[in-house]
Amino acid sequence: NSDLILYVNLELVNKKSDRRYIVQEMLGQGTFGQVAKCWDAETNSYVAVKVIKNQPAFYQQAIMEVSLLSMLNDRFDPDDQHHIVRMLDFFPWKNHLCIAFEMLGHNLYELLKKNSLRGLQLKYVRTFSRQILDALVVMKGAGIIHCDLKPENILITPNVRSAAGVKVIDFGSACMEGKTIYSYIQSRYYRSPEVLLGYPYTTAIDMWSFGCIVAELYIGLPLFPGASEYDVLSRMIEIIGGQPPDDLLREAKNTRKFFKHVGSIYPGNGAHDGLGSAYRILREDEVEARDSKKPKVGKWYFPRGRLDRLIFAYPWKNVNESDLSEAEKADCLALVDFLRGLVEFDPNKRWSP
Ligand code: ADP
Ligand code: MG
Repeated sequence: NSDLILYVNLELVNKKSDRRYIVQEMLGQGTFGQVAKCWDAETNSYVAVKVIKNQPAFYQQAIMEVSLLSMLNDRFDPDDQHHIVRMLDFFPWKNHLCIAFEMLGHNLYELLKKNSLRGLQLKYVRTFSRQILDALVVMKGAGIIHCDLKPENILITPNVRSAAGVKVIDFGSACMEGKTIYSYIQSRYYRSPEVLLGYPYTTAIDMWSFGCIVAELYIGLPLFPGASEYDVLSRMIEIIGGQPPDDLLREAKNTRKFFKHVGSIYPGNGAHDGLGSAYRILREDEVEARDSKKPKVGKWYFPRGRLDRLIFAYPWKNVNESDLSEAEKADCLALVDFLRGLVEFDPNKRWSP
C-alpha cells in the first residue's frame, strides 16, 4: 500500500542517537518478534520496544504496523482518548525493525490467568468492553481492520487515579478495509465465520472477535476453544444455535471443508432464523483428516452448551440460575443479548461498534 508507506518518513529514523533504549527485561514474545521493557535515556521513562524478526516478510508487515498505527494515532486519535496504544518511535537495528510503544501493563489473558480463569466481575467486563468499542469505532472510521483481536492484544493501562482501563495493541496483522490480501488471519478461537469459510471480510470480523473476548472476560475461558477450524465452527453452531446464512455458504470458498450440500429444504441442525438450509455441517467422521483433530481435553473445562446457559450458570461460578438475584438475572440477560448481536453469523446483521 504505497500511500501508507509514504506516510512513514524512513529518512528520520537513522538520525537517532545510539544507546537511547536500554533493555531491562523481556515482556512478551509473539509471532512477529519480542517485546522488551526498556529505559529511554532521552525521555527518562520506560517504554516497550517490539523487536521484529529480521526476515523481509516480517519487516514489510512491521512497516504496515507502523504506518497504520501512526495514521490512527496522529490523524484519528490525536489526543489519545480512544484506547489505542501510542507508538513513540521506530528505528532499524541490525536488520530488525524496532517499534517503541508507551509502556502498558499486563494483557487480558494474563489478567484472567491471575484470576484462575474464573472471569472478571461484570463491572470490569463492562468498562473494558466500552473502551475496546471506543477503539473499534475509531478503527472502523479509519477503515482499518485489526485482524488479530484477542485478550493477549489488549493491555491494562497503568493505574491512572485507580480507574481500570485497557488499550488495544498489536497492529501487526492489521490491514485496510477493501485492501484485504490475506485469507489466513485472526487467532483460531477468535476467528470469524466469514474468515473460516473464506468469504470477503470487513471490519465486522473484529466485532466477532470482540464478542468472543467479552464472553471470555465474563466466563474466564475462551468461548470457542476449538482444536481445529472444524471444531471451532461446530462449537459456534452448538453454542449460538443456527449456522451461517445460505448465501454466505453458497459463495464462500471453503464451505465444502465444513458443510455438506443437502438440497434446499434441510430442516435440521442449525437452520438459520428458523428457516431451512441447503447445508448441514459435516459429521466428525466426514471431515477430511487434516481437520478432524478431536478437541483437546486440556486442563480446563472447555465450555460447551448454549450461550445463555454458559452465561447464567457457568460451572466455574458455581451458581444456579435460581441463586441469582433479579438484578443479576437482568444483567445476565442483557449480556446474552449483547453477545448475540456480536457473535452473529451474518456479517451484515452483526452489530457494528
Ligand atoms: P506480536 O505481534 O508478536 O503478538 P505484540 O505487539 O502483541 O506482538 O506484543 C507481544 C506481547 O508483548 C503482548 O501480548 C504483551 O504481553 C507484550 N507487550 C506488547 N506491547 C506492550 C506494551 N506497550 N507494554 C507492555 N507490554 C507489551
Ligand atoms: Mg500480539
